[in-house]
Amino acid sequence: MTRTIHTAPEVAELLGTEQLARMRGPDRPARVQCWKCGVRIDAAEDVAVSVLRVVDPAAKPGVGTVSAAVQTHPACLPSLVLEVTPAQLARIQAAARPPADEGQDHDDEADLDLLATIAGSAERPYPLLLLSYRSDVTVERPAGDRVDLLTSTYLSAGWHPVTTLAEPPGPAPAGHRVLFHHELPDHDAPGVLAVIGSHGVDTTAAVTPQELWRPLARAYGWTVVVHGTNYLADGPEGLERAVRSGLLVGGRVPVDLDGPGNDEAVRR
Ligand SMILES: [Zn+2]
Repeated sequence: MTRTIHTAPEVAELLGTEQLARMRGPDRPARVQCWKCGVRIDAAEDVAVSVLRVVDPAAKPGVGTVSAAVQTHPACLPSLVLEVTPAQLARIQAAARPPADEGQDHDDEADLDLLATIAGSAERPYPLLLLSYRSDVTVERPAGDRVDLLTSTYLSAGWHPVTTLAEPPGPAPAGHRVLFHHELPDHDAPGVLAVIGSHGVDTTAAVTPQELWRPLARAYGWTVVVHGTNYLADGPEGLERAVRSGLLVGGRVPVDLDGPGNDEAVRR
């Protein structure tokens, strides 16, 4: 199961040796999604890595250039450094939306890690959904900040940078909501969670929430949703590091709970 990772010399130079080694290492995701066509690339298939520079012609000089590495089938896009405007990026991403998954299939090959937990203080806890996507890898910006395509895309859509988990961030952009469907009344009953976005971005995953997540979500009518890339694999340290590094974005999202046991009084 050895896969060849195609990198043009200028791409390898931008990614750096550490990142290249990580992409070839044992803990990188076996299956990735082709950025161009949206179809998954299996562990045995070759991938091409390109660096995408998102250049906003309206931005002030020196601001607004974001780079990220993307992975594709070599036939869809050979390894290169590609410059796109935010408008072109949005069009390509809309075209590359993967075909709808059939039924339960999605759970087996989840392209994200998801935790339904709580954060805040003992006096004021709040419900928190952590979404960690296994897709983009990060590259350096000229200024030295590490950003990734996902974070910058969410920030430009109106989500908030997450600098602490002690307090919930502001509301997410309008049109987002969370649906949680469960069959059993227990507070930690497993269920299926869907994050519905304003432009059709839709994440569905099976999850067993932490015991207080659902009662708090019911009491407030919202949950905080945090998006990031590859930050849950290392446990709590990975989460803290990602918060400190400014790699996470989030917002409060209205939540609908669909299942038994949501009418009883909240014990807190
Ligand atoms: Zn492809």
